[in-house]
Amino acid sequence: MSQSAQNSPYEPPFRVGHGYDLHRLDRYAPLGRGRPMVLGGVRLAAGGNAEVGPVAHSDGDVLLHAITDALLGAAGLPDIGQLFPDTDPAHEGRDSGEFLMEAITRLAADGWSVANVDATVILERPKIGPHKDAIRANLARLLAIAPGQVNIKGKTHEGVDAVGQGLAVEAHAVVLISRVGA
Ligand SMILES: [Zn+2]
Repeated sequence: MSQSAQNSPYEPPFRVGHGYDLHRLDRYAPLGRGRPMVLGGVRLAAGGNAEVGPVAHSDGDVLLHAITDALLGAAGLPDIGQLFPDTDPAHEGRDSGEFLMEAITRLAADGWSVANVDATVILERPKIGPHKDAIRANLARLLAIAPGQVNIKGKTHEGVDAVGQGLAVEAHAVVLISRVGA
């Protein structure tokens, strides 16, 4: 092994990233501060008597926020709150797909591509099952990967705590990124 190889640590051609996000849910305006429920860029109709949506500075897409943070984290880049501060009026009501695109652009500039995404959304109502395929297809489109490289799971919080009482929506995401061409 050469001297330089001894001094430079091994860098594998892949990295894992994790992202988490939560938004409080409130009744739609004008009754409350909730925005329309959007998950993975797909608008969900309210279910049951729960006319609620996320309270957020942007469009409140908890799934896109978790995935964006997972991607940025994998590449060792600043997180979504640092890149897109919720104090900046420019991000008011902003389509979170634009946050994801910015993350992808930054990753590509560093020579990374997305290998796969696996995410879990925790929400009492509405059920995301009927929307899963549409969410998956839209995420694949945004990430420019095949739908088979994207997986989404929907869970409830079994009535426990704030998420279980329908007061919040939560998402977890893990991603694998790899060196382009590796
Ligand atoms: Zn968020």
